[in-house]
Amino acid sequence: MTAMSATIALAGNPNAGKTTLFNALTGARQHVGNYPGVTVEKKSGTWVNGDLKLTVVDLPGTYSLTAYSPEEVAARDFLVREQPQMVVNIVDASNLERHLYLTVQFMEMGVPVLIALNMMDVAKTRGIDIRVDRLADLLGVPVIPTVARSGKGKDELMKTVAAARPSVEKKPLRLSYGEDLDSALNQMESMIIKVKSLSGVYDARWLALKFLENDRKIMAEVKTADSGLYESLVTIRDTVTDHLKKTLDTYPEAMIADYRYGYISSIMKQGVLAHRYDENRLYLSDRIDKVLVNRLAGPLIMAAVLFGLYAFTFTFSEAPVAWLENAIAWLGASADAHMADSLLKSLVISGIIDGVGGVLGFAPLIMFMFFGISILEDSGYLARVAFMLDRVFRVFGLHGSSVMAFIVSGGIAGGCAVPGVMASRTLRSPKERLATLLTVPFMNCGAKLPVFALLVGAFFSKNEAGMMMTITVISWVGALLAAKLLRVTLIRGEATPFVMELPPYRLPTFKGLLIHTFERTFQYVKKAGTTILGISILLWAMMTFPELPSDVSQGFEARKAHIEATVTDKDSAAEALAKVDAEEGEAALRHSAAGRIGSAMEGLSSLAGFDWRTNIALVGGFAAKEVIVSTLGTAYSMGEVDAEDSGSLKEALAANPGWSPLTALSLIVFTIFYAPCFVTVVCIVKESGSWKWGAFSMAFNTVAAFLISVLVYQGGRLLGF
Ligand code: GDP
Ligand code: MG
Repeated sequence: MTAMSATIALAGNPNAGKTTLFNALTGARQHVGNYPGVTVEKKSGTWVNGDLKLTVVDLPGTYSLTAYSPEEVAARDFLVREQPQMVVNIVDASNLERHLYLTVQFMEMGVPVLIALNMMDVAKTRGIDIRVDRLADLLGVPVIPTVARSGKGKDELMKTVAAARPSVEKKPLRLSYGEDLDSALNQMESMIIKVKSLSGVYDARWLALKFLENDRKIMAEVKTADSGLYESLVTIRDTVTDHLKKTLDTYPEAMIADYRYGYISSIMKQGVLAHRYDENRLYLSDRIDKVLVNRLAGPLIMAAVLFGLYAFTFTFSEAPVAWLENAIAWLGASADAHMADSLLKSLVISGIIDGVGGVLGFAPLIMFMFFGISILEDSGYLARVAFMLDRVFRVFGLHGSSVMAFIVSGGIAGGCAVPGVMASRTLRSPKERLATLLTVPFMNCGAKLPVFALLVGAFFSKNEAGMMMTITVISWVGALLAAKLLRVTLIRGEATPFVMELPPYRLPTFKGLLIHTFERTFQYVKKAGTTILGISILLWAMMTFPELPSDVSQGFEARKAHIEATVTDKDSAAEALAKVDAEEGEAALRHSAAGRIGSAMEGLSSLAGFDWRTNIALVGGFAAKEVIVSTLGTAYSMGEVDAEDSGSLKEALAANPGWSPLTALSLIVFTIFYAPCFVTVVCIVKESGSWKWGAFSMAFNTVAAFLISVLVYQGGRLLGF
């Protein structure tokens, strides 16, 4: 600090020792007044050392920075209006966890902060041995031990204050408060940023946070600044409040506090204390964590939980998926029986029923999967998964905060890369953020699930859960290796320290689970009925037009007429006719626009085991990954290889000589890694601020996916599969 007369503020919980430190620093050079507008005492004085003179202000003691009391209003307004060069946060070392709650709020607010770890003498007599350097590292804030009553540490403290470069520290801490609140905050933040009279004064996300915390004063300020914005923010807040009430029976303030304490407790778990707490003082959550995030048992339990989730999903969804498939097949059969041959019939049966139906058929599986994931999430276990993965992530140049982005994107199964890419906002380092948002699309989002369900069901039905586990492992290994590759080439840079938030465990409520499951399943079904339906119709058209030239189709008609005239046995006539129909279907599909694209790519794609029909599906899958299933459904419905077959697509693929488990595996691998869907690419462009990264992810992912698939397919063939 080079300014000749800068202001520093002493802040902290009541009884932390602020006044004692203030007196020790300023001696007789102090005066007392009131903060403007509130009858709270304001004490300020000067600290002098050589030609450096600092104004020191003793802020009123507070537990939080939300305007619930006049003291809090005074303290916060001072920080916002006067913008002191440094906030010296007095923290009681004998009560560390509780006092850090306020520290976290200073960090979230983005004020330059430094910790005076006071009452070191008391801590010592109580046997609490704090590793000061470790604490400073984890928080990313200087920490100076002091004993205010004897003046110990005060010179060291002021030396650090004088040397600090606050502008570097001024980046606000962005915690995650769980999926629901995070997405509300993201929405609110992007609206607030546009109103300069607010975003010029406050950090936009912090302001949004205060809104969620019901801070009347901030809300009033927003209302005066822009009443339209105010209304929108209130709507978002009410919606998310309602949602939390319904699902978790809690409210935003409590949730935010939980996550702040979770953040602190995870700091405490990382070696801040030189020896452990007295066992009896551990809270229940901490006791559970001793087992669940144990270095040895933790990962084993995690693997078992994942396997259990997949086994549960495939086992229990088998019957309902079969019922639904039968119902869809029945629908197709009755349409077949009641409609005259026409383009419309082809659209209804091949385009809609066999296309969208294939995607809808997996809705029960999606539902069971989401139910299981909701249990993991609502109970707080998912946060532990993230906590354990953090250690692995560091090795690959990613950040612990990336873990949540990966899980949101489908790290366990069934998420979506769009919120995943947005979740990377919680990362402060731009490089780690970029590495995260480029690799989250490798996770297995809800749209890839029906593709896997189809292929696993058709070719690996003996070991579905094991195969799903393998798919998860492949996608994680791929994502981590890709991240590492990016971090040693295009986006090189230092790793930043990280602390993961660990909210307390909660017992999920059945109602909450049902609501979460229903919401997500509904999203899946809605997407199938709207976006996927639209794309299916488009692809059906591309697979139908241009139609076969009339001389070619007349040739097929002539052959059929010939069979009808010459073959007398009814069964063999039907068989021969079906064969001609299938041939005609295939010829028509090959002749269509999509068929030509698929055929043109076949030379290259056959290296990975993909035929022209699969190519059409994969091109369509760029629009949305479910389209891979719907397009295969349409393609196999149009050029049915076995015309007798009226069974599901799964059976059709299993029976097709062109398909083998190896082809399926190659396609699974390609689906995991190739270009993110269109919406995700748009999101990557937006979040990275450059269209180049969107183009990069499309090209890089597709090339990588293809190379890996070729490796799998050719390797498998060499090994004789
Ligand atoms: P404030 O509420 O933050 O202004 O806290 P005070 O400065 O009034 O201190 C509260 C009590 O803690 C007083 O009795 C102080 O004498 C005592 N105190 C302050 N700092 C220390 C310290 O480092 N060690 C010990 N043992 N007592 C302290
Ligand atoms: Mg005081």
